[in-house]
Amino acid sequence: MKALVYTAPHRLEMHDLDEPSPGPGEVVVRVAMTGICGSDMHGFLGHSARRKPGLVLGHETVGVVAETGDGVDPTLVGARVSVNPLISCGNCGNCAAGRPNVCDSWQVLGLDRTQGAFAESVRIPARNVLPLPRHVEDSAAVMIEPLANAVHLLSMAPEHAGMFPTAAIFGGGTLGVAILSVARVRGVRVVAVVEPNPRRAQVSRDLGVEHVIDPTTADVPAEIQRLTGGRGVDLALDAVGRESVRQAAAASVARGGTVLLLGLDQGPTTLDFIDLIRREVRLQCSFTYTRQDYQAAFDLVVNGAVDFGRWTDVLPLTEGQNAFERLATDPGDRIKIALRP
Ligand SMILES: [Zn+2]
Ligand SMILES: [Zn+2]
Repeated sequence: MKALVYTAPHRLEMHDLDEPSPGPGEVVVRVAMTGICGSDMHGFLGHSARRKPGLVLGHETVGVVAETGDGVDPTLVGARVSVNPLISCGNCGNCAAGRPNVCDSWQVLGLDRTQGAFAESVRIPARNVLPLPRHVEDSAAVMIEPLANAVHLLSMAPEHAGMFPTAAIFGGGTLGVAILSVARVRGVRVVAVVEPNPRRAQVSRDLGVEHVIDPTTADVPAEIQRLTGGRGVDLALDAVGRESVRQAAAASVARGGTVLLLGLDQGPTTLDFIDLIRREVRLQCSFTYTRQDYQAAFDLVVNGAVDFGRWTDVLPLTEGQNAFERLATDPGDRIKIALRP
């Protein structure tokens, strides 16, 4: 099969690889489309220790079941499916507790040695595929995975945040708008989105956000305090994960509020813990999603509650190198670029 292989930092090449074959409990999906994620971009730029040359990236995928392994219902062949790319052991304590996202041996497509979905076919446990209704387009289905991250993030908000908590979203890219969409469905009042790229800021405005703050020109915490009558937001939602953004998020949250951390751009961050402790600010990390979160995101897309079609581009897989370069330099108002084999 043809596959887009990450061969060196900033380099993707089309290679011929062996066709995957399904093991027991697995299926092989003929890929229809795979979205490019920020984490794929991290790998492409050579910033990810767990994405090494020789790997096929890609985990936001939709396709048709082509083959089933032992123990899998053979009538699945031909089903068009959304692929939950998070593979968990099913046996460890966290898996047993319904938290496969913190499984002792979790894997995700396109990470470590697990080949991803920028290819004609991909192998996945059968329990990870969800049959899609016909009316859902491939370009909509590739947003299910980013939305699942947002569903999980908001599920980590504490109960005491109240019925209609206020929130600020840091980042107006794919995850930012995914969080915005899920927040609205969950009754969260989004006070502001923080986004420096003017074309991405416009996407949030088009989605009805009144206050989009440019962090390169505004004092973000001061602006958020102003918008909340000096209180700060109940929830600061970080879709970026950079030191300056985490600091701004922590400074924008209300006394007793929560900073929800999803962005993975940088590791180390200095925060003023004396301030955070005195205000009893909760820092809650969020990683991927549970099966229920994925199902909830699937339902949002199937029911048409979210649709980013006008901000999605679809390119042939052979254009992968160009698509990644474009995303790395200026994504503009493109919320998702997807590749079709
Ligand atoms: Zn992703
Ligand atoms: Zn496990």
